[in-house]
Amino acid sequence: MTALPLVFDAPRRGKPPRHLADLTREEARAAVAELGQPAFRADQLSRHFYRGTTDPAQMTDVPAAARETLTAALLPGLLTPVRHQAADGGRTRKTLWRLHDGALVESVLMRYPDRATVCISSQAGCGMACPFCATGQGGLTRNLSAAEIIGQAVAAARAMADGDLPGGPGRLSNVVFMGMGEPLANYARVRTTLQALYSPAPHGLGLSQRSITVSTVGVVPGIRKLTEEGLSVTLAVSLHAPDDELRDTLVPINTRWKVAEVVAAADAYAERTGRRYSIEYALIRDVNDQPERADMLGRLLARRRAHVNLIPLNPTPGSPWDASPLPAQRVFVARLRAAGVPTTVRDTRGQDIDGACGQLAAADLAEGVPSVAVVPPEPLEPPMELGAEGDE
Ligand code: SAH
Repeated sequence: MTALPLVFDAPRRGKPPRHLADLTREEARAAVAELGQPAFRADQLSRHFYRGTTDPAQMTDVPAAARETLTAALLPGLLTPVRHQAADGGRTRKTLWRLHDGALVESVLMRYPDRATVCISSQAGCGMACPFCATGQGGLTRNLSAAEIIGQAVAAARAMADGDLPGGPGRLSNVVFMGMGEPLANYARVRTTLQALYSPAPHGLGLSQRSITVSTVGVVPGIRKLTEEGLSVTLAVSLHAPDDELRDTLVPINTRWKVAEVVAAADAYAERTGRRYSIEYALIRDVNDQPERADMLGRLLARRRAHVNLIPLNPTPGSPWDASPLPAQRVFVARLRAAGVPTTVRDTRGQDIDGACGQLAAADLAEGVPSVAVVPPEPLEPPMELGAEGDE
């Protein structure tokens, strides 16, 4: 496996067309006024957008003559679904989206008895180069605009409302930034997206901040910035190793910001928000799953406001690594708990459609590689809420 460079600055490509969701309220009102319409139509358009209405014919509160103009100017279709793939009896659905410039991203909607979570992408590709992650191995194509990120959540909310997943109409309750990309490397757009996710109608999806999880590889300045925002969104940190020596190899950004710095930044976030953060830890056979490492991780996190979310590695093509066997997983969990660290094992939704964590590699999928449906593995623990507080 060749080591890829870390890439923070996204390549500049043609900007997506202007979209209402990228504008402030004032900018949107001004844009509507420029088109010769009363400014309040900006709120009407916003309501339609967040409800997932894309057909101008359905915007009956807007004069028929103005619908096409306003839609074309402010609600251009930015995400074209290329295909949906279902797994877990239809309760998991992965969507491949094509963007205006041909770039591809994926999002995954997962329905549980008590909630529905969408996992969204913040970048096309990723520059963080983690060797066990399919997205990381494909490199960074570009940052997504806020409207492109928000659009994935809106589509999921609409799919739930329409009852597209078995179980009848429902409500999107959670959003996790665990798709393609490093959200804190696309900070401004992700910040705009957060606001849209928690703002009530007509300016957003009205989700609770706590049910939104920002997952980061450990971009410390980004964590600090997020802390200063004074929000209460859930923070997840992809640690994957308790020691710098191993983490340098698994999460290359560790060569810039060490374990101690990342954990200190997450502590400050917890301090400010009063909320526990999640530590993501992919269990890789014979790489980071030794009992001694569990003890080391336990010592690192004991008495911190952290919850560990273990993810049995989802093997990616070309990687020599495999998931830890069940007995090793159990020992790891037991040792962490013995150290007083709340620990759960993540449900492996969507593994068979390459929709699980670290498997999103839309660029390869574009070649049309068919996926084979297999019986999904039984989770070790009852499925837990992704990025949730973590008490079982
Ligand atoms: N860039 C963000 C979001 C990435 S995806 C971050 O790193 O947190 C969300 C989670 O999936 C991260 O914890 C990531 O490390 C993990 N992951 C990546 N590849 C994986 C794989 N092959 N198996 C299991 N988890 C993986």
